[in-house]
Amino acid sequence: MMKPLILVVEDEAALVTMLRYNLEKEGYRVCEAGDGEEAIAMVAERKPDMVLLDWMLPSLSGIEVCRQIRRKAATRELPVLMLTARGEEGDKIRGLNTGADDYMTKPFSLPELMARVRALLRRAQPVPQKGMLNYADLVMDLSAHRVTRADRAVHLGPTEFRLLQFFLQHPGTVFSREELLNAVWGPDIYVEPRTVDVHIRRLRKALNTDAEGELIRTVRAAGYALDVEAVVAE
Ligand code: CA
Repeated sequence: MMKPLILVVEDEAALVTMLRYNLEKEGYRVCEAGDGEEAIAMVAERKPDMVLLDWMLPSLSGIEVCRQIRRKAATRELPVLMLTARGEEGDKIRGLNTGADDYMTKPFSLPELMARVRALLRRAQPVPQKGMLNYADLVMDLSAHRVTRADRAVHLGPTEFRLLQFFLQHPGTVFSREELLNAVWGPDIYVEPRTVDVHIRRLRKALNTDAEGELIRTVRAAGYALDVEAVVAE
């Protein structure tokens, strides 16, 4: 099997060198882009398995690069880990809202970065599964990796897909943010519980584009559940 290819988008040469060295040591293949425009071109040309994306870039910001990646059908599910020198909570939420799957603030710990890269790749390439999961007007075809709601195709990023799969396997059950983090993100990496809210919002947005009924119930102070009786109270 070919080793995963990781696109490193970063304009600081020293950081690129360090990231390339360590990613290759872990067995990944690495390609580079030094600015936003180049990043878009590299994604189309090299079709990486994952993007490590710096926020502050010449020509096109990381946020804009991420938006463009998410806008195209071919790269909608490409995992993106955002790297940034900015550490504000608002920035983090903004980064995740534009479609990044994970977010790390510089300076970061290398072992933690590697753990997140592994986790994200694992999430994006789940073990092949078969069968269909159904709930209300939702259908998830696991082997085709496709979701429909009332026969309309629903496009989900890798994290939202895993999240919905977990809900579909346990309909009606209320899960706390921590339980969802453990089940979907994995217990080996630390992700802030608020990250779950961001992905729930993205999942809801994808599921409800035709103003169909809400399917994900928010349980105040407890968590979330897949439930036809869902009433959003946030
Ligand atoms: Ca930079």
